[in-house]
Amino acid sequence: MSTTDSMSSSNFIRNIIAADLSAGKNDGRIMTRFPPEPNGFLHIGHAKSICLNFGLAAEYGGVCNLRFDDTNPVKEEDKYVEAIQEDVRWLGFDWEDRIFYASDYFERLYDFAVRLIRDGKAYVDELTAEEIRAYRGTLTEPGKNSPYRGRPVEENLELLERMRTGEFPDGSRVLRAKIDMASPNMNLRDPVMYRILHAEHHRTGRKWCIYPMYDFAHGQSDSIEGVTHSICTLEFEDHRPLYDWFIDQLGIHHPQQIEFARLNLSYTVMSKRRLLELVTEGRVEGWDDPRMPTIAGMRRRGYTPAAIRNFCERIGVGRSDSWIDMGVLEDCVREDLNESAPRAMAVLRPLKVVIENYPEGEVEVFEVPNHPQNPEMGTRKVPFCREIFIEADDFMEEPPKKFFRLAPGREVRLRSAYFIRCEEVIRDEQGEIVELRCTYDPATRGGGAPDGRKVKGTIHWVSSRHALEAEVRLYDRLFVRANPTGDKETDYRDHINPESLKRLTSCRLEPGLAQTAPGTRYQFERLGYFCVDTVDSAPGAPVFNRTATLRDSWSENGKG
Ligand code: ATP
Ligand code: MG
Repeated sequence: MSTTDSMSSSNFIRNIIAADLSAGKNDGRIMTRFPPEPNGFLHIGHAKSICLNFGLAAEYGGVCNLRFDDTNPVKEEDKYVEAIQEDVRWLGFDWEDRIFYASDYFERLYDFAVRLIRDGKAYVDELTAEEIRAYRGTLTEPGKNSPYRGRPVEENLELLERMRTGEFPDGSRVLRAKIDMASPNMNLRDPVMYRILHAEHHRTGRKWCIYPMYDFAHGQSDSIEGVTHSICTLEFEDHRPLYDWFIDQLGIHHPQQIEFARLNLSYTVMSKRRLLELVTEGRVEGWDDPRMPTIAGMRRRGYTPAAIRNFCERIGVGRSDSWIDMGVLEDCVREDLNESAPRAMAVLRPLKVVIENYPEGEVEVFEVPNHPQNPEMGTRKVPFCREIFIEADDFMEEPPKKFFRLAPGREVRLRSAYFIRCEEVIRDEQGEIVELRCTYDPATRGGGAPDGRKVKGTIHWVSSRHALEAEVRLYDRLFVRANPTGDKETDYRDHINPESLKRLTSCRLEPGLAQTAPGTRYQFERLGYFCVDTVDSAPGAPVFNRTATLRDSWSENGKG
């Protein structure tokens, strides 16, 4: 697998559109569309397509439609239709009143099919699915004509009508285009246009028992809407001659199809089938689990729409398949949150510190800036008293050379407060360190010593009496392998990261975080970016999700 971490924002489709505009094509009109099938939640790959379609339309004064390609009733559901709309909107795009469904075109598609039959371009076939496959031939051998291929037009018309009225069982007949069974392009070997499916559709209910194939619906739907640039992923390149054929036979508006390379992202999977498996097998907590590559998961994780849009711009749009490292996406998230997230102090694994020379019962309140570089983000009040919590791993009894934080006899700075020195280590009966006894220097208020002495470490802290006790969930990548589906010997599920979620239930947070709204993002100083969970938080009792670490630990420690 090759990994590109391209910083370019090249986009060859831009050039095509610009050229079409200056050539006066489509009367200067630009219309794109984003055409999801409502059979799952959207993922980051869809975000690339959304940014591309809506982005290009906006850039060139055009419009972009949202169209649901809902031609397979068995897999499609309203809940997906709703989730998809929420996600597109959240990403910052607006289809205004142009929300469409391929199912709204079923009647017209049927009429198109009738026209093709009348023109001798389609026929009802009675071969079984297996026979159709066998007759299709291979890449090296031509196919064979079906014995039903020469049926008279009237008979085809009658049979299609009877298929529609429900006379025949599933699988007993199909409508096929009459193109060329010897075509080197397999898609042109009399592809199926309609199949019988006695199934309830999420929008049309039981009105239909025959459904158009995606390949017969997609291009015509674009045409009906007047789409000018029909942007899709590379695997549809071989289908383009078929889409063109249908449109040319029907003599209807001809959108221009342009293919681009789909996004492949390391350390995750993106096929909807696999994402659905992860959900239904309970390997994650749902489509919006913060470890999922879904838009809903990323939103819950704390990713911002701006970070995702920026990622999609940064990776560019090309025509050859490539892999993008997860670190690129995470960097976009860090960049955005570093600017926009207010700072706070949180202690994830608390160790109690008693400051022996600090007056019992006294409380001081420090005015702490919310952002070190953006004074306009204001300040907040943080209480301090004799007992505080620090991060357990900010103390080491026998520190190695490069450890500059707290150790016996050593002095460190408490962020925005005082210098403290560790005087004594208290253990419980099992020998576990349970408390540190420290002293503070009152002259270092605010974090500096008047005598100019320096400390090498600055650590964060939370007042024990005022702290908010909360759950913090440390999310990490869902897979330990860069390409979880990369080999045939193993199943992608074998590569799930067993440490993709750690729940820490007795974290201590600045008291000001108690009333924070779900969805709010912070940088917890020295720890990373965190977001108030939108599902499990209650008023006064926020649960925090780790959005991102401060640095990319995966590339540093070579875990990947
Ligand atoms: P499936 O065909 O497995 O249901 P899909 O990912 O193709 O899944 P669609 O709902 O058909 O799902 O996709 C909607 C649009 O998003 C299509 O235009 C598709 O090309 C685009 N898209 C899907 N996956 C990616 C990806 N990884 N990168 C870029 N675009 C994508
Ligand atoms: Mg698809």
